[in-house]
Amino acid sequence: MASPPAPPRLFPVFADLRGRAVLVVGGGTVALRKTTALLEAGAIVRLGAPALNAELAGLVEQGRIEHLHGTFAPRWLDGAWLAIAATDDDEVNRAVAEAGEAQRVWVNVVDDARASSVQIPARVDRGPLQVAISSGGAAPMLARHLRETLETQLDTSLGELAELLGRERHRIRSRFPQMGARRRFFDRLLQGAVPALLRRRQHLAAEREFGAQLHADASTARGSVALVGAGPGDPGLLTLRALRVLNEADVILHDRLVSDEVLQLVRRDAQRIEVGKQAGNHHATQDQIHALMLEHTLAGKRVVRLKGGDPFVFGRGGEELEVLRAHGIDFEVVPGITAALACAAYAGVPLTHREHAQSVRLVTAHCRESQDTLDWPALALERQTLAVYMGVAGLDRFSARLIEHGRAATTPFAIVENGSRANQRVITGALSGLAELARIHAVQSPALLIVGEVAALANTLHWFGGPPLGAPAPAVAEAA
Ligand code: SAH
Repeated sequence: MASPPAPPRLFPVFADLRGRAVLVVGGGTVALRKTTALLEAGAIVRLGAPALNAELAGLVEQGRIEHLHGTFAPRWLDGAWLAIAATDDDEVNRAVAEAGEAQRVWVNVVDDARASSVQIPARVDRGPLQVAISSGGAAPMLARHLRETLETQLDTSLGELAELLGRERHRIRSRFPQMGARRRFFDRLLQGAVPALLRRRQHLAAEREFGAQLHADASTARGSVALVGAGPGDPGLLTLRALRVLNEADVILHDRLVSDEVLQLVRRDAQRIEVGKQAGNHHATQDQIHALMLEHTLAGKRVVRLKGGDPFVFGRGGEELEVLRAHGIDFEVVPGITAALACAAYAGVPLTHREHAQSVRLVTAHCRESQDTLDWPALALERQTLAVYMGVAGLDRFSARLIEHGRAATTPFAIVENGSRANQRVITGALSGLAELARIHAVQSPALLIVGEVAALANTLHWFGGPPLGAPAPAVAEAA
C-alpha cells in the first residue's frame, strides 16, 4: 500500500513585494482577499479573470490593479515575481502552477499545498513584527489553531515595541557593540517597564524609560506590579490582557477566591503565593501583602497581584496601589468581571430592566459594623436592584432592615453561590424568607445576593447549572 507522500520541509521566507508585479488569477472573494493583502504589502497586482466581482471591478476602476481579460494564458506570467491561483477551477489552477514551474515563477494555489511551489502561511500581525505559521500543508487546521492562540497572547502593543526597537537600533548597537552585552540588555528591557508602558499607551514615558535603561547599569532593574482581576471563577471570563500578564509573571500573589482553573493558566515556572484572607484578621494580612509586593518588586520581579472578580470592587485594590505609588513602583490595573455582573449573568438575572429596575447598587454587608453605616432608606427604594457582596452572615438582619425601611416583603431575591463555577447554586424566593431559605440550603461563601424584581427572572431565564432552588415547583403552581 502506498502511503501519501510526506509533507515537504519548507524554507520560510518573508518577501519584499514593494513595486513588484504579482499575478492573481481569479475574480471572486478569495482573489479579492489575496489582492487586498498583496496591495497592503505594496505589490503591483495584475488580476486575470473572465469576470470580476464588484469590489475587484472597483479596484480596477480606481486604477489600483490591472485587469487581464479572458482565461489564463502562460504569457500572463511574463514579468511576474509571484502568482496566486485563486479560482475554483482545478484545471485553471493547475495550468497556472505548471506555467509557473516552466517560467520559474513561484505559484501559490489557494488551498492546494501540493500544487503550490510556495505556500502562504497563517500569520499574526503586530506592525513590523509578523509571526508566520506553516505546517507545510500537513495540518492547516493545526496551524490555524496555533495562530488563534498566539493572536490572544501577543498584545497589540508589540507592534509599537518593534517600531521603537527599530528606531533605536543604532543607539543600542553603539551602546552595546558586543553581542553578549546586547543580548543581556534586551533581556532586561523586554522584561522591564518599557513593554508595560506601551501596553498602557504611555508612549512618551516608554521612550524616556528606554533611554534611561540604555544608560543604566544592570543592577538597577526594578520590578512592577499588575493588579489583575481574575473574574468570578470561570477562566473563560478572564480578559485577554489578564491572560497575557499571567503569562509573563514571575510572582503571583493571589487571593483564596481565585479559582484553580484560573491559576492553571499562570506561567508554569512562576512562583505562586496564596495570600488568602480569612474573615477576622484582614488588617494583619493586608500589611503582609504590601510587604510581599514590595519585597518582590524591589528584587526586580514582575509581580501579578491576582484578585477575585474586579480588583477595584470591594477588593482593596486602591490601598495596594497607594502603597506602590508611595514607593515609586510601577503598576498597571487589569479589570476583571466582578461577582455582581458574573453571578447575574450566570443566574439569568438582568440587573436592569425597563419595567423593574433603572439602577443597580453594589453593596457590601459583611459584618454588623458595615451594615450600620449603610443608607437604609436609599437601599429600600423601589425600582432598583441591589447586588450584595459578602452577605452570607448577616442575612436576617439585612432583610429585616430593608423591609423596615419600606421595601416590600414580597420583593424577589436570588442568592448565587459559587457563581460561574461548576458547583454554582442559585436560591430564589421572597425577601421575607431570605434568611430561612439560606439556612435551609446551607449557603456558603462565596455567595452574592441579588434583591429586586429582576431576581425572579432567574426562575425562567436560568441557563447555567441546575435550576434555582427554593422556586415554587411548576406542578404545584398549576394545581393551585
Ligand atoms: N473583588 C471581588 C469581590 C471581593 S469581596 C469582585 O469584584 O467580585 C468577596 C465577595 O464577592 C464574596 O463574599 C461574594 O459575595 C462575592 N463573590 C466573589 N466571587 C463570587 C462567586 N464566584 N460567586 C458568588 N459570589 C462571589
